[in-house]
Amino acid sequence: MASSGNAENLEEAYSKLSLENGDEDFGLVLEDVPENSVKQDYNRCLVGRFLTNRKVNFMAMQDTLASIWRPVKGVFMEETDQPNIFLFKFFHDLDMQRVLNDGPWTFNQQVLLIKRLNVDEQLKDIKLSELYIWVQIYDVPLGFKSEYVLKSIGNYVGRFLESDSKNFERMGRNYLRIMVAIDVMKPLKSKMRIKKAGDDWMWFQFKYERLPSFCFFCGLIGHTEKFCEALFDNPQGTEIRNYDGSLRATMRKQSISA
Ligand SMILES: [Zn+2]
Repeated sequence: MASSGNAENLEEAYSKLSLENGDEDFGLVLEDVPENSVKQDYNRCLVGRFLTNRKVNFMAMQDTLASIWRPVKGVFMEETDQPNIFLFKFFHDLDMQRVLNDGPWTFNQQVLLIKRLNVDEQLKDIKLSELYIWVQIYDVPLGFKSEYVLKSIGNYVGRFLESDSKNFERMGRNYLRIMVAIDVMKPLKSKMRIKKAGDDWMWFQFKYERLPSFCFFCGLIGHTEKFCEALFDNPQGTEIRNYDGSLRATMRKQSISA
């Protein structure tokens, strides 16, 4: 009988576990957990938090994001018991991909940091400090146009995620485009110095697509200079601005709202 066969296998497996030394030495090794034994489909689940210390109105946030995202097959949003951590369960990969690809997103001018849920991570341990954003790179000479250079630039701006498939198809476009996960605890990068060995330095300029409001004084996303602690603590006065709106890319198409 098949069932007794399974029972014997289990018995055999347990007999191999040593229980002599208490909890510290005990560990259950799971091999080949059947896919369907995990109740939820976590593959289409994103986890997010808003870049704010204020409490987010879940109902209003849900309505707003649903109307901006308009997922074809729907999305189920859930508050978790971790403050300011939300789950977004999609019913189709394409809807989820579009949300990851077309961001950043905001609600009430608060930026949503969002990523795929990692099933090996516990909700309480989830760190969300990266913003996925498309960066346009300007002033790149033809001799520098390679995936290697793009990856290096991406990892300077933040953490390189992907390169626009059109980067090398469209000769007429005067910028290259990469998606980067930027650390919101660090100032935005506006340019990068680069050279080939033996040559002179040159500067590549960056512009960010759908860049949420950021501070023209310290370059951090999530506040403006009106609320910048670094500026208030600055003895040089409050007239200095190290950044300006030129970091914002003008959107190629205005099909995306909010
Ligand atoms: Zn600031």
